[in-house]
Amino acid sequence: MAIAARTVTIRSVAANVTFSAETLLREAGLKRTPVRLAVLELLAGMHTPLAAQQILDALPASTDSVTVYRTLNTLTEHRLLHRIRGDDRVWRYALSDSEPQSPRHDHAHFVCESCGSVECLRDVPIPRKLMQQVAPDQQYRVKYSELLLHGVCPRCQS
Ligand SMILES: [Zn+2]
Ligand SMILES: [Zn+2]
Repeated sequence: MAIAARTVTIRSVAANVTFSAETLLREAGLKRTPVRLAVLELLAGMHTPLAAQQILDALPASTDSVTVYRTLNTLTEHRLLHRIRGDDRVWRYALSDSEPQSPRHDHAHFVCESCGSVECLRDVPIPRKLMQQVAPDQQYRVKYSELLLHGVCPRCQS
């Protein structure tokens, strides 16, 4: 007898899309595991990228930390997540802009020099033109680009 798979539909508050974590994993050719699902669900509910330690703290205490670190690497390699480093050099993870129908876009990130917070600026895509202008010699194979803006966030200004 077949057991119906639990469908997890995620409404990403950050990327403003609704998707199924299972679909994301399947399209990436990844097996569906409880930790992968939990990490995707958690990050979908976040407006700001989270450090691995924050992700661990938010998951059930029984979650194996090594599995979580491995999961973060796997999901990042498959570009379901992306990561950014702040001034403290700690990697923070966020859900990629992944709408199944439309191509992913890379967005700029912001680091606040006052509070150290790191944000995805999802409304600020990296212009394609810029990427063409900074394209190095063909000997270099560019996989992805980063645009990191430094300054003072709105909260620290008020
Ligand atoms: Zn700030
Ligand atoms: Zn981002």
